[in-house]
Amino acid sequence: MDKTSKHFSEGQHYRREGSCFIWTRYINAKGYPVSGGGWANRRGLSILAYKSSWEEFNGKVPAGHTLDHKCRNRKCINVAHIECVPHYENVRRGNKTKITSEAVREILIDVADEVISAIIADKHGICQGQVRAIVRGLAWGNVHNDIRPAAIAARNYPMGKKRAQQLKEYSLTKR
Ligand SMILES: [Zn+2]
Repeated sequence: MDKTSKHFSEGQHYRREGSCFIWTRYINAKGYPVSGGGWANRRGLSILAYKSSWEEFNGKVPAGHTLDHKCRNRKCINVAHIECVPHYENVRRGNKTKITSEAVREILIDVADEVISAIIADKHGICQGQVRAIVRGLAWGNVHNDIRPAAIAARNYPMGKKRAQQLKEYSLTKR
């Protein structure tokens, strides 16, 4: 059901765009809606307008979780469009268009083959943290478990000669 904080009203704080409630006031550098926050501060809620709206109905965001815009519109404050997800789930969703299950398999095979994560990340247009998250099963869950143990083993220390050499070459290309 479409809803938002009782502190925000249409016309004054947001306008409707489809089923999205687009914040029309201050937007921070990251593109998220920010409210004046007097009432939110008093109640210990976030001054991020979409977050305080969600928290008003659901309580504080639990540790290790983050709020994700299902509509992919950061300025939207419609609580029905906001979902509380584990942090890595959000990272995965943000890259939904880039990373497919097949790509995850390729990544795991490359990791098992001791390709360094910087090179894998460049190849797939993701960040190294996401490569690590995929290997550890934090992003993309437990798929391709036939290859995962080999990938995890390849990441363990001490670092093999192959990875050490690539790291050296890679750092040279970035200079
Ligand atoms: Zn929306």
